[in-house]
Amino acid sequence: MKPIRTRFAPSPTGFLHVGGIRTALFAWLVARQSGGQFVLRFEDTDKKREVEGARQHLIECLRTLGLMYDEGPDIGGPHAPYVQSERLESYKRWAQKLIDSGRAYADPYTPEEVQAFREQAQKDKKPFLYRNHRPETPPAWDGTRPLRFKSDPKAYERHDEVMGDLKTGPEVVDDFILIKSDGYPTYNFAHIIDDTEMEIDLIIRGQEFLASVPNYLNLYEALGLIPPKMATMPHVLGPDGNKKLSKRDGAKDVLDYVREGFLPETLLNFIASLGWNDATEQEVFSVQELVEKFSLSHVQKSGARFDDKRLLWMNGSHIRELELDDLYQRSAGYWGPEAAGASDDYKKQVLALIQERLKYLAEIPELTKFFFVDLPVNGSLISEHKQLKKVDQGELKNLLQQARDVLAESDFSVQDLTDRLNQLLETTGQKPAVLFSLVRIATTQAPASPGLAESLALLGKERSLGRIDQQLAAL
Ligand code: GLU
Repeated sequence: MKPIRTRFAPSPTGFLHVGGIRTALFAWLVARQSGGQFVLRFEDTDKKREVEGARQHLIECLRTLGLMYDEGPDIGGPHAPYVQSERLESYKRWAQKLIDSGRAYADPYTPEEVQAFREQAQKDKKPFLYRNHRPETPPAWDGTRPLRFKSDPKAYERHDEVMGDLKTGPEVVDDFILIKSDGYPTYNFAHIIDDTEMEIDLIIRGQEFLASVPNYLNLYEALGLIPPKMATMPHVLGPDGNKKLSKRDGAKDVLDYVREGFLPETLLNFIASLGWNDATEQEVFSVQELVEKFSLSHVQKSGARFDDKRLLWMNGSHIRELELDDLYQRSAGYWGPEAAGASDDYKKQVLALIQERLKYLAEIPELTKFFFVDLPVNGSLISEHKQLKKVDQGELKNLLQQARDVLAESDFSVQDLTDRLNQLLETTGQKPAVLFSLVRIATTQAPASPGLAESLALLGKERSLGRIDQQLAAL
């Protein structure tokens, strides 16, 4: 495979959401897979929309997720600078070429005049085309007016790496602004110059640019350039699959997910799976597997659904794959205050017990609190329990007393506890859902816990019996 240079070219206009990360991820995957380079470029020519702190945020997102770029604003590279506002000389040079070849002209109209043309077209029920109003003798361009591209309308047949073969007619090609009156280029112009000078082989970007591609192709031709390959990503849709993903549905800052304890490898796996699969049933991929298996030809054309529940499930899967020491390191910062005095060894054992059911790291305090502190008896755990609520209180008390007597004889090894609890099942003739739930609630005061014998062994004899006494007193 020939090395492919790709780029991620965000505008620093806000936080990076899932759709943006997907573009970055796919570009990164293609570069890594082919032994090419992944370039980061800031497109900051719309100064009104720029948001303070957005650049730092974008860099932090990419680094946190492990999407390291080979060239970029903060690390430089052979095509520096990687910030559009620092490349104005370049755009001017290329604009001059277009002026010299008669393919660009100064736009003489005021915004009000252009608006009047637009309204007239609407009245005539015709699509508005700027080129129908091209001035016959445009003024010389002095930088105070917009510079417009003089298009050469024609039909195009082209191939998009995701959308397939696309055909458009000449009616979609129009004169567009290259350089605005504030001296900054438009995205439409600047990205073409940058992708050319940065030797980009493949552009991956969102669907919102698809309609403009015929204009871009026309400009590439006017400049005598061969366009890179293009891949257009479908929208990421909300959970119901209808509308575009909104903030409420999960279009939130990807760093928020990291803060909640979603693993970077889960987020990459999940985001890759928005519209891509490897044509097998496999759903959980390591980052290495994504690099090996990713292919643009398996990205679907229609919108991909963002499903929060699936993200949770997937994170649980990745958490289960982690070595305990690794999980323990990642859990730093997530333990509740009650765990503050506990030893590393004890916390690690607690983690080993909940690893199987842990869905995200911010859940750790809730799932582990009872391992560190005695919680007050919560009567509703019994009165609302499916099985226990059917059993008479006196009977429950009697059962728990028997359990206490049996446990008092145990050495509290997992094996011995298991044996004795099973024996008690037989002697009492009770169902596990009654007996074990009762002991579990008494010793944890939690609606759910890891394996009973394992939990008791870790809590230790004194603590477990003490908690049973507390529950007995309350029954
Ligand atoms: N600057 C554009 C944006 O943030 C990126 C478009 C592209 O990737 O070419 O939407």
